[in-house]
Amino acid sequence: MPSIFTRIIQGEIPCYKIAENDRFFAFLDINPNAIGHTLCVPKKEVDKLLDLDEETYTGLMAFARKVGLALEAAVPCKRVGMTVIGLEVPHVHVHLIPLQTMANATF
Ligand code: 5GP
Repeated sequence: MPSIFTRIIQGEIPCYKIAENDRFFAFLDINPNAIGHTLCVPKKEVDKLLDLDEETYTGLMAFARKVGLALEAAVPCKRVGMTVIGLEVPHVHVHLIPLQTMANATF
């Protein structure tokens, strides 16, 4: 059974897409911690960050950095927080959260 994020990437489940390339996909979180809360995921479905091959790991970080810089320019915020949790959806994803103050850093 594909993960919910694979189904989003394949267009089976709708999302608000932020960016995409051949290996990675970024879209808005359905339950955001802040305006612009974005998830960056590899198209290759792997559960845990530490199980990614090195090329996908570094590629994901480079993709998330580009998306994060674009978010920082587009959304008024002090900074874009970047974290990996992965307790709910077993498909690696990086959270990018535009933060106004540390008070909305509820992750
Ligand atoms: P985590 O696995 O890192 O604990 O959290 C998963 C994140 O995915 C949550 O912030 C949750 O709101 C988000 N999420 C779960 N299901 C969907 C969905 O169907 N669409 C979108 N856009 N986000 C989702």
